[in-house]
Formats: sequence, structure tokens, C-alpha cells
Amino acid sequence: MTSAQDIIDHLSVPSAENIDLINRAYEFAKKAHEGQFRYSGDPYLEHLAIVAKMLAEIGMGAHTVATGLLHDTIEDTDVTPEELKNEFGDEIFFLVQGVTKLGSVRYYGSDRHNESLRKLFVATSQDIRVLIIKLIDRLHNMQTLEFVPKEKQLRIARETLEIYVPVTHRLGMGKIRKELEDLAFPYVYPDEFKHVIDITKQLAKNSEADLEKARKAMQKRLAESGIRDFHTSCRSKGKYSLYQKLKRREWDMDKVHDYLAIRVVVPSIEQCYQVLGIVHEIWRPLPQRVKDYIAFPKPNGYQSLHTTVITPNRTILEVQIRTESMHREAEYGIASHIIYKNKQLGQKESASQTKSWFASLVPALFRPFIWKNSPTREPKKEVLLGKDHKLKIPKWIQEIADAHKSDDGDLEFFDGRRDDFFSYRIFVFTPEGDVIDLPVGASPIDFAYAIHSDIGDHTAGAKVNNKLVELNTALKNGDIVEIIIGKSNRPTRKWLDYTKTSLARRKIRAVLTSQEATMRNS
Ligand code: MN
Repeated sequence: MTSAQDIIDHLSVPSAENIDLINRAYEFAKKAHEGQFRYSGDPYLEHLAIVAKMLAEIGMGAHTVATGLLHDTIEDTDVTPEELKNEFGDEIFFLVQGVTKLGSVRYYGSDRHNESLRKLFVATSQDIRVLIIKLIDRLHNMQTLEFVPKEKQLRIARETLEIYVPVTHRLGMGKIRKELEDLAFPYVYPDEFKHVIDITKQLAKNSEADLEKARKAMQKRLAESGIRDFHTSCRSKGKYSLYQKLKRREWDMDKVHDYLAIRVVVPSIEQCYQVLGIVHEIWRPLPQRVKDYIAFPKPNGYQSLHTTVITPNRTILEVQIRTESMHREAEYGIASHIIYKNKQLGQKESASQTKSWFASLVPALFRPFIWKNSPTREPKKEVLLGKDHKLKIPKWIQEIADAHKSDDGDLEFFDGRRDDFFSYRIFVFTPEGDVIDLPVGASPIDFAYAIHSDIGDHTAGAKVNNKLVELNTALKNGDIVEIIIGKSNRPTRKWLDYTKTSLARRKIRAVLTSQEATMRNS
């Protein structure tokens, strides 16, 4: 069983006050859930303690960790909201309530799908910690899904794929996304899962040895070229993600080129491009497979250089090259900023923390990722917060991070400032349930361009929540937006006044300029 001490051992800031808080929350939860058991036969307390421990491991502050212990008290016990508030104060009360409200997010087929996603994002817009607690709660529930009665397993696994996974994707939390997907996959698509397992089994034997060989060869060449300060690691594609790709490639494994990948993490962007050159010198790259997501980040902020190469023993592998801040962002997304802040503050306060902050994130929670040959080292401030970092994370997250830089002894990133995390952004939905994030005040035209420039260029009208609206209407968090397209419709100068995003303005100006050019020529 997981004890209060096991949780305390992982706190970033084990101050007397924080230790006392965790001990009190542990005893409170123990008493409140007395006599309750999980399907696994464990006392209910074990679920709460593991969730709290994982939250501590990924670097969340003491309030959030305590909430991990208390997150089911209002819903599942006789504890009243008043008692909880009196005992633990407004902050924790707010967080527990937030998680409790999210408890009713369910997958009921496509109609309710949008509604659930919407709830999740609206709750998140009040405090990102609510979402992180909920995701860790879901992760532990998925890890113990085998004990749940058969008839409930499918529903829970499907909810995970349909609701939680898109959120982790949207927020750029690659590591937790992969784990949730692979845990849900066998329940939701059992036949396809077996098929994928068969395919990967055949490959596994040779490919792992090849991959390791390739990694060694590359390390040697990088060192010879004077690049010293780098890490490499190997990964194979997640099972669910491989399934998605196989579906699009007629189940032909020869058409999947990123099953095996080597990651290279270097200190600077300049070195990323240097490494790309070296990789192409050692191995023949496949044509049309070089992707520069550093200059052109993916919509969720992901950045890396990708290239696919073929080694002398005919192994095809993808090489992913990125800086440390890009790597952290790719693994933890939005959460990485909170974690980073806590770890920094933690290091100031506890000299005993000699582990690298990253190594300390790796344990139990995120098993698949293992650093090989990586000396542990302290983060360098200028690497993490330098120009590179500023440029590379989505601007709106950076603005928030900057707004929270000053600190008055309050160790959690967003403690006491829950109202403004996403106050710069709204989340709106396509009729299919895809989430689009836009700045506050954005219009249907911004939305149309965010989906595709062809849609933007031919916008004729818009419906918000099924009602026709003017094109200059300001969209609100949670709106469902549908664009009506007219073949002959084109942007007008007026549209520039209706838009907030630079993407939309750039596209509109491009069309206006070419129209004027045509008019001059005719
Ligand atoms: Mn729970």
C-alpha cells in the first residue's frame, strides 16, 4: 500500500507546511473512504494515494497533490463541501469541486461527445490543474481497468479515446496521450489490436538490434563532428498510433516509415540543423520525408526536425531532432510549464535535490521513455528560458508563463490566479467536435481560416450554435461554429476589421493584393 510518506518523498518542496498538508489530507481521505474498495480489491485509499503520488512525481505543487488525495470525497463519501472547505481552505475546495464536476463527463455517442469535450475545456479554462488531476485520475483508472466488470470496460476505454486523448493531444501532452491510447486500444478495438501485435512481433526481433546499432553509429559521428552536449534515445511507435497509420496505408507495414525512431536532443536550434546534415551524410534520406517543424510548428505547438533514412542493413527509421525545451514541450505540453516552474522553485529550497529535474519526471508514471547513455545534469537557465524557448512555445502559453513569473512564496504556478490561465484564449468547436483555439474576440472569419484557407477565402456566412450570425460576431468559449461556403465569395477589405488572428489577416491581404493586381492588368 502507498503511504503518506511515499507521497511526501516525491514532493518538489517538502517544507514542514506541505508535509503537514499531505499528512492531513491522507488521514482525512482514509477516514472518509473507510470501508470502500476498488474493483481490484484494494482499499479505495490506494487509488487516491497513487494519484497523489503521480501528481507529486510529475512535479505538481502540494495543493494539487493534496487534491489528488481528496478528489473523490465530495462525490463518493459523506463529506460535505462545507467540511472540506473548513478543513483545507478555498484553494483545495475549488480544485476538488472542479474535478467533481468533470466526473460527469461521459461518452454517449456523438451527440454528447461535443458536450463533454466542451465541459472539459470550459473547466480547464478556469484552472489547468483541474484537468491535470483529472488526466492522472483517468490514467490510474485505465491502468486498473482489467479489474472493472466487463460491461463497463468498453465505455470507460471509449471515453478515454474519444474525450481524454483529444484533450491531451490538443494541449501537446504527448507522453500521457500515448499511454492512454495504448491502454484503451485493446478494449475498444480488440481484433485490430491483435492484428497490430502480430505485425509488431514479427518486426521486433531484428529491428531492436538494428536500431541500437544505428544509434551507436550516430552517436559516434556526432561526437566526431564536435557535438558533445547531446542525448539520444530510441522509441517505437505507440500501438494505437501505429494502428491509425496502418488504417490509412492499407495495412501495409512497408508504407509506415516511422515505426522506429531515434531522438536526438541538443542544446540549440543551430545544432538541430547541424545534426540533420550529419544524419544525411551517414545514411541516405528518403525523398520528400524531411519535415521542418521547427520553422513550421504543428498546430498544437510541436516542434522538431524529422527525417526518414535507410541504414546499410536496410532498416528504415525516422530521426527526430529537437532542443531540450522542445522536447519537454512535446512530452508534457501545457503541463511542462507548471512542472518546470515548480521544479525550479523546488531546487532553490531543497539542496538535497541532486537528481536532474528531468530524470525525476521519468519514473513510474511515464515508463516507455528511457534515456540511454544520458548523464544527468542540471537544467541551464538560459537554455530553458532563452530566446529559443520564447520563440518556440505557442505565444499564448508564453504570455501566460510570463505573467506568472513573479512569485510571492506561493509555490504553485497558478495558485490563487486560476481565473487567468486561459483568459487570453477561447476554445470553439467544429460541428464534428474538433477543437479550435482562438484569441478572445475572434470572429467566424478567424475560425474559418484556422480550419483551412480555402474555407476562409470562400466564407459566405456562419452559424453559431445553429443560429445564423454576422461575420463580425465575437465567438465565445464553447461555441459550436459552422461556416457556410459560397463558391464565388471572396474576402473584402471590411474583413480585416473583423479579424483578430494574424493568420486570417495575412490570407485576406494576399487575396486582396492579387485581386488588385488582376484589376490593374485587365
Ligand atoms: Mn478517482
